[in-house]
Amino acid sequence: TSTTPASTDIALRTPPYPKLLRKLHEVRHLLPTARLTLAEKILYSHLESPEEAFSSISKNGSGIRGALSLKLKPDRVAMQDASAQMALLQFMSCGLPSTAVPASIHCDHMIVGERGADVDLPESISGNKEVFDFLESAAKKYGIEFWPPGAGIIHQTVLENYAAPGLMMLGTDSHTPNAGGLGSIAIGVGGADAVDALVDAPWELKAPKILGVRLEGRLSGWASPKDIILHLAGLLTVRGGTGKIIEYHGPGISSLSATGMATICNMGAEVGATTSLFPFTPGSHTPYLKATHRGSIAEQAEAISSSPGLHNLLRADAECEYDEMITIDLSKLEPHINGPFTPDLSTPLSQFSEVAKANKWPETFGAGLIGSCTNSSYQDMTRASHLVQQASAAGLKPKADFFVTPGSEQIRATLDSDGVVSTFEQAGGVVLANACGPCIGQWKRTDGVQKGTENAIFTSYNRNFRSRNDGNAKTMNFLASPELVTAMAYSGSTSFNPMTDSIPLPSGESFRFEPPSGQDLPRSGFAVGNAAFLPTPGVPDPNVQVVIDPSSTRLAVLDPFEPFPASELGDLKVLVKVKGQCTTDTISAAGPWLKYKGHLPNISENTLIGAINAETGETNTVYDLSAAAADANAEGMGIPELAKKWKAKGQEWIVVAEHNYGEGSAREHAALQPRYLGGRIILAKSFARIHETNLKKQGVVPLTFADEADYDRIGACDEISTIGLLDTLQNGGKGEVGLWVRRRSGEEFTIKTKHTLSPDQCGFILAGSALNLLARKGRN
Ligand code: SF4
Repeated sequence: TSTTPASTDIALRTPPYPKLLRKLHEVRHLLPTARLTLAEKILYSHLESPEEAFSSISKNGSGIRGALSLKLKPDRVAMQDASAQMALLQFMSCGLPSTAVPASIHCDHMIVGERGADVDLPESISGNKEVFDFLESAAKKYGIEFWPPGAGIIHQTVLENYAAPGLMMLGTDSHTPNAGGLGSIAIGVGGADAVDALVDAPWELKAPKILGVRLEGRLSGWASPKDIILHLAGLLTVRGGTGKIIEYHGPGISSLSATGMATICNMGAEVGATTSLFPFTPGSHTPYLKATHRGSIAEQAEAISSSPGLHNLLRADAECEYDEMITIDLSKLEPHINGPFTPDLSTPLSQFSEVAKANKWPETFGAGLIGSCTNSSYQDMTRASHLVQQASAAGLKPKADFFVTPGSEQIRATLDSDGVVSTFEQAGGVVLANACGPCIGQWKRTDGVQKGTENAIFTSYNRNFRSRNDGNAKTMNFLASPELVTAMAYSGSTSFNPMTDSIPLPSGESFRFEPPSGQDLPRSGFAVGNAAFLPTPGVPDPNVQVVIDPSSTRLAVLDPFEPFPASELGDLKVLVKVKGQCTTDTISAAGPWLKYKGHLPNISENTLIGAINAETGETNTVYDLSAAAADANAEGMGIPELAKKWKAKGQEWIVVAEHNYGEGSAREHAALQPRYLGGRIILAKSFARIHETNLKKQGVVPLTFADEADYDRIGACDEISTIGLLDTLQNGGKGEVGLWVRRRSGEEFTIKTKHTLSPDQCGFILAGSALNLLARKGRN
């Protein structure tokens, strides 16, 4: 029932240990008295040049964390189908024949969960055929492994095939840190960042702070790995991990499976952490690597981790210091339920009934959903199936609808051959496709719950924002372990505690669950399942034509942006002065627009549609006040409409905004779209750091007011020219940039601005975009 990957695959899937050990040696030479955490060791061993990075750092390493910008060279890239489109389109515009590092594409987000895999999968494939065909053809051309629809969810597939101790990878999805369960540093990024790695350009990250979580005691009974992160999310809140790596350590780790560790790292994204990781743990990692045909990686990791002293890549130094420390006693941990609407609202199971009543949360719930990238391991599913077996033996059926989403074909096929799938199905459960489905809004509910109706569901997923699962903002998604979701589905009541409560039987007797038990790994090995779901090989084929239909509404080839002119930017016009918060969602809305992620002209129709016009208070409404005579009667129009009108006339523009412009996500569309429509400068009171970098990568100049009061002096359709920008760009960021402003009233004045342009970023802007620069370097 199992296949072994070819030796070339194993070579591609093994972290470059000799290179990493050499780099670590260099790091130790430069920081001889530093005591490094595991995360730092792996991260710094991926520096492009430790010497350049640490040239002005003291020998004990102080002044790195939270301060130094690291230029890193990741080992691998993984992309999911929705975000891979723009990443690949950008990569293609560089004109390179293959990716610089191994990469993989996973078709998972665009698959519906409704009636079961047999029906949902073919329908989803035909509905998204042009996107899947594009991804597959690009993957074959550039040597990227392509996992087709049905093969599995990106993070589970990565765990089973690519994650390994000491690896550093980027993934175009926020739950990429899942791979930290096998000791990888795995970071979720936007497509433009992934392209950095694909073209062999260094990827920049501000050195994170390190939050240590010490695990003591042992998990037992109903408590599961999921409960560790549900509890931790309650302690840290959704922002508590920002700018930090969570590094788990301590004796409690030995009671966890490799997949349990992955669950914990997966949900580090919910506290905003850069990533999370566990140390190489031979007791659980070696059997998992062997079961997934990577015994040789386990052997190398064991050899490295047994070496003594400071040069051990896979162990934190004794006496290393964490910026913060949290200790959790697993022996005392009880199951938790988090939600609704935010993953950090954490309630211990024993208190949940009371809290639910106090908050008037629904007394019953309509569906229990288990699986997803977070919780679909063999251990999770066998523990859940143990509970189903108990209930079935007592003659019970779930009261709530019960859905199972396997994380991969390997897991599904193994559960099938071991009888777990039939246990679920005989109990009335529906096994959905190996894909994201209900976790990402691709859940077509058939239980009659109407939009706008308050209701509850229980899931073993990781996120529970409003509307996330079924598009209904009134659906309360309570997050819990798969075991708890399964047991509670038999009662259908939010006040049921399976540890203490019984379910009445028709006979008059009552039924009480025994604590769940399962197996970490299948006794007879993992099954391969449907061979059609195996990936294409990661070997480039220059003869493959990338398939993009010129009439497509969902995909469009990216044309390179024009280089910066050999002069100052003159006669820009203020498109809109934005009032208040302006997130990446405000600039590039999600929801129904997601289907246009691979078509820049079409998705640009949503540019800034959430922005509030500071001068009128209206949302997505601006006025073309260019002709003085037209002022009085100018008609309002949408922001993208005016931007397109100006683009057609060659009129470039600027946006004026307030604080933290571009907060939210790393969504590169929020920088690409304004650039595509003719935006050259964003002038704000302040920027969100990642978005500010994204703007520079796309050739847009982010400037901040030297005097914030100047925000009030500028208005819509004022004309603006730069003073000193060209010199500053040509001098690698050294210099001041002023703006000459002519108001529509005829008043003229200049204002001072500030910028954070580094020499590299000046190069991006002069070339027109970072990709233009990379393409030029690639050609030379
Ligand atoms: Fe993201 Fe959910 Fe898919 Fe996981 S299952 S990758 S959380 S959409």
